[in-house]
Amino acid sequence: MLLLQAFFLLSAWAALAMYQGWQVASIIATWTWRYGEHDLWEKFRMKLSIPYKMREGETVLYGWDNLNLIFYFFCPVVVAFCYSVYAMCLPATAKSGLHARVATLLAAAWRPLHRCLTWQLPFRRTWLWWCGGLSLAEALLWAAWVVVHVVGIWDQVNYQSSYRLEGFKQVGMTFYVPQSVLKLEAISIAMAWIIYIDTAILFFPVAHNSFLNRMLGIPYAALVRFHRWVGHFAIWLTLGHGVFYYAFWMCDPTVNFWTMFFDWGKEYGIVSLAGTIALVFALGLWATSIKFVRRNFYKLFYWSHIVCFLGYLVFALIHYYWGWYLYSSLCLLAADLVVRSYYAQKGAHITSFRISEDGRLAEITVTVEPHVFQEPHKLAGAHIFLKVPAVSRLDYHPFTVTRAEPDPVTRATRLTVAIKQYGRWTKDLLAMLPHTRQSLRVRVWRPFDELPPAQHWEQFGGIVAVAGGVAVTPVTAIINDLMARRNAAANRQPPTGGAADHDSSSGSDSQPPPPAGPQRVLLLFAARNAADFCALEEPVLREAAAGGWLEVRAYYTGCLEHEKGAARGGATATVEGAAGGGKAPPFADPGSVMSGIAIKGGAHPSPSASFGSGEHPSSLFGRVSAAFWTFIGWFFPADFLTDRQYIWVVLLAYLGGFMGIIMTQAAAVEILSTNNYYHDGYWRVGLVAVSVMSVQSLGLPALFVLGPAYLTRLWRRFKRAPFNPDFLGASAFPVVAYVAGGQVVALESGTAVPVTRGRPDVAAAVRGFVAEVRAAGGRTAVVSGGPEPMMDAVALAVAELNDNFSAPAVVLHPVAHEL
Ligand SMILES: Cc1cc2nc3c(=O)[nH]c(=O)nc-3n(C[C@H](O)[C@H](O)[C@H](O)COP(=O)(O)OP(=O)(O)OC[C@H]3O[C@@H](n4cnc5c(N)ncnc54)[C@H](O)[C@@H]3O)c2cc1C
Repeated sequence: MLLLQAFFLLSAWAALAMYQGWQVASIIATWTWRYGEHDLWEKFRMKLSIPYKMREGETVLYGWDNLNLIFYFFCPVVVAFCYSVYAMCLPATAKSGLHARVATLLAAAWRPLHRCLTWQLPFRRTWLWWCGGLSLAEALLWAAWVVVHVVGIWDQVNYQSSYRLEGFKQVGMTFYVPQSVLKLEAISIAMAWIIYIDTAILFFPVAHNSFLNRMLGIPYAALVRFHRWVGHFAIWLTLGHGVFYYAFWMCDPTVNFWTMFFDWGKEYGIVSLAGTIALVFALGLWATSIKFVRRNFYKLFYWSHIVCFLGYLVFALIHYYWGWYLYSSLCLLAADLVVRSYYAQKGAHITSFRISEDGRLAEITVTVEPHVFQEPHKLAGAHIFLKVPAVSRLDYHPFTVTRAEPDPVTRATRLTVAIKQYGRWTKDLLAMLPHTRQSLRVRVWRPFDELPPAQHWEQFGGIVAVAGGVAVTPVTAIINDLMARRNAAANRQPPTGGAADHDSSSGSDSQPPPPAGPQRVLLLFAARNAADFCALEEPVLREAAAGGWLEVRAYYTGCLEHEKGAARGGATATVEGAAGGGKAPPFADPGSVMSGIAIKGGAHPSPSASFGSGEHPSSLFGRVSAAFWTFIGWFFPADFLTDRQYIWVVLLAYLGGFMGIIMTQAAAVEILSTNNYYHDGYWRVGLVAVSVMSVQSLGLPALFVLGPAYLTRLWRRFKRAPFNPDFLGASAFPVVAYVAGGQVVALESGTAVPVTRGRPDVAAAVRGFVAEVRAAGGRTAVVSGGPEPMMDAVALAVAELNDNFSAPAVVLHPVAHEL
């Protein structure tokens, strides 16, 4: 299995590297990178030219373009195809014998290499702040990227400014423009060439449903970093391309700047004004994607990303229709969009919920109709996108599934999700929940980035999880999973060494061996609001209180006065001031226990006291159209695409894109057939390119894969009764967040976990834990999720521990709560 995996992984990268390698190799060998001159691939390339049969002597696709298509278009498809077929053929269980031995050998060889490649470079704080960290592998990738850019630009400048001019001189052309001015144009054109490479790769990491994510095993949130990095390059080069051209027009005595600026293809062949418009869209895209905007104005970022991307695409191709190269990765995005359109709109209902007393945290149960999820247990820890039409018709928001279980009667899937109040959408949802008295129709989008399967954690001697606020949800999913496996293992053991005493450390011979998997799990959980402790689930607290393999250390980092202000009367989970009652310095005095923090009111708040008495805030009604959503729901298929269907979607998206290219080139021959390069019909070729390529790469898979699937599902749906699960009820959390006498108390079972005031020293805790696990001869996994400073502290601690190459590596699993 590992052998095959390694093969496909290598072939995927080889496909990309070969293209880049070819470019650089041919440049270095001949110092040329051009259409018609001799290079390493000349003979092969010439054979690939496709003549245009409709017009004598015309070529529809030049060999040079065709060669690039092979690398850009077909290699990814072949890899996608092979990998997907391989994924489908994987055995459910690991094989034994020779295969297992080879796999072990490969794993043994890979581990030290992996360790070197993931080693974090010095100036770690700076890298973390600047780009989220930099490993050796990433630095090497960057270095290669920079080399390709520098060599490419240098070579093109060389070619454009000397060789091309020499050629023109030989045929008797005279230049009235100084060489230095012509150099400005040469640099600009060189940059445009390199934008080809950047944009061609730009979209590979952003597809949610992509063979690349699956193959590399890198979660979407981590892969998207590469999209950002390449995006920066592409936009800076686009800006450079524009600026150098503007400078050229200004310095060129033979042209008028404004004539060139506003030219729509008549003066220059290429549509200059469309280029400027594309540049404006690119800059808009860049400005609204920077972290500050993304984090503080997410909707602005989201919508402007879509609008500016489309604007850029359309005007860039009108500017220069040969820019269709960027379709190499756009076809994968097209396949992703097709799959997403099928994955959205899965019928689901919120059938119950619990909400904290301050209304800032809720745990909802989403019941998804039967047949949608075949293996619900795999969903714990996955991210789902949720749309609540009653709150917003358009918005989907990502959340982590903490528990997933099938309903034994209806076979529907019940997903549990904890939602914390953040901005507008979550605030509206949490404000609406207490007024909900019937199951609430929602939409669920297929999960992505499932956590590694439970077996993954078994290779570690210990796991330390550091979580802040609601980011504890994926950790809860892991712990739930581990608990379930331990319980299952304990239940399988003979009665003499039964489940009850599997944590005992008496060491007698009659004791059963400890269950596989980590022997110690430590959760450091910091919360700013007392209500956040509700996110710690009762079974987790109970297991921790038993004092066995699981230890939970809770930290309260909030400001007491703020808590006091936020508290309401009655049975509210109120936190009173510590000794002195005043405002405690935030995060001061880490070690001290929160004595004196007490709760007013002890009993469960009665659901009827909090729920069902109020009305919906009227502003929310305007957004609901239950009939519309019920109607729409009928059209959307219940389940997801199979792997086989996914393969076809990818293949047809690429085929559609390729057919679009051929049609574009044919249209170019027709429209520009007068051989007059300066043609006012040039912009139409760009429009043809955008239209035919988009329609075909989206349309072909939609028509041939989704169409039949929709019709089949629709037919089945008419035969099936609509799914309307009962509302199971609403309640307040059973006051898990009683922070009384420095304890988090789970009232239902009476178990308690101590709470420490102040921020945890995560670095020290991780170091201490790893030292203990290493002493016992095990490896440690570190899971971290929460605010950025906390994640950075964990990343630094792990990087430092991994500097010691003689000790076992510490594996870091950051989990994202922000994109
Ligand atoms: C992978 C992942 C898993 C998450 N799991 C949970 C969870 O289990 N529980 C929980 O309470 N929260 C979770 N979140 C955060 C949750 O998605 C946001 O709190 C919520 O979307 C905020 O929406 P808002 O309109 O209330 O706030 P806003 O003020 O609009 O947004 C606040 C922040 O939330 C993020 N965000 C908002 N909308 C989206 C979106 N459509 N897609 C991606 N990010 C968005 C952005 O980073 C934004 O800066 C998760 C986020 C991600 C990316």
